Amino acid sequence: MSNSDFRCPACRAKQPLQPVCRRCEADLQLLVRAIEHSAALAARYEQARFRSDPHAMDSAARLIALLDPKQLAALRCDADQA
Ligand SMILES: [Zn+2]
Repeated sequence: MSNSDFRCPACRAKQPLQPVCRRCEADLQLLVRAIEHSAALAARYEQARFRSDPHAMDSAARLIALLDPKQLAALRCDADQA
């Protein structure tokens, strides 16, 4: 997800990824942390794939499946095309 695609889940205001919504001032800290963690896991998955390490890919995939199943589907789709 690029920063410009982010919308506040409470009021739908489009904005950069930030811990407090610019419009409704909703606390978005947990969401920001989850998105950042999901991106870090995706990077870990890609590194494991690059190293051809199926055990590390599996452990990253299990965590991504809990946090962001759509991202996991996209990562696996990319892997099929590579
Ligand atoms: Zn908002």
